[in-house]
Amino acid sequence: VKTRKPLRITSRSSSITNAFVQAIIPFVEPTDSEISDVLTQFGQQIGMTNCVYCGGDSTDWDHLRPLVRGKRPTGYISSASNLVPACGPCNQSKSGADWRLWLGGNSTGAQKAKSKSGLKERIERLEKFDGDADVNPIIISDLVEPEKLNAYWKKLDEIILQMKEAQKIADDINSDIMISLGMSKS
Ligand SMILES: [Zn+2]
Repeated sequence: VKTRKPLRITSRSSSITNAFVQAIIPFVEPTDSEISDVLTQFGQQIGMTNCVYCGGDSTDWDHLRPLVRGKRPTGYISSASNLVPACGPCNQSKSGADWRLWLGGNSTGAQKAKSKSGLKERIERLEKFDGDADVNPIIISDLVEPEKLNAYWKKLDEIILQMKEAQKIADDINSDIMISLGMSKS
């Protein structure tokens, strides 16, 4: 039996960063007809959706063009033209990468997706969907006062730094507790 490793405060850094990005960019809820249009482009229909990367059952809607890269917004927004059905493992493995680079790479997730049948067709559909969309990233620095934006990213950096410092204190306290209980620190 394997238990989960305890959560580390610092392991939440990317969630916080994602939240900072998602909190400011537009989220346009797709309409039912937009969703069915996306699915049609991948040869699918509502109720029978498959991961566009590996062909397995889909559980998520993945942003084909990542919203976050290098701890900052890419400028792509969340809307029907940027949403594709995906399974959890592919979604997590692809993460902030460009789909072509991810699928062409050697990560475990990409290798698994490539090992499933129908890869060529899936890639063709992805290329068509990506090419047809005519989606351009928004330039956030053109839309918001730079001072306001800088203060926002500074706040994120401060929070991440605070989390690192908190983790150090947590390690120290954990060590005290383990020693007091006569448990060796692993
Ligand atoms: Zn998948």
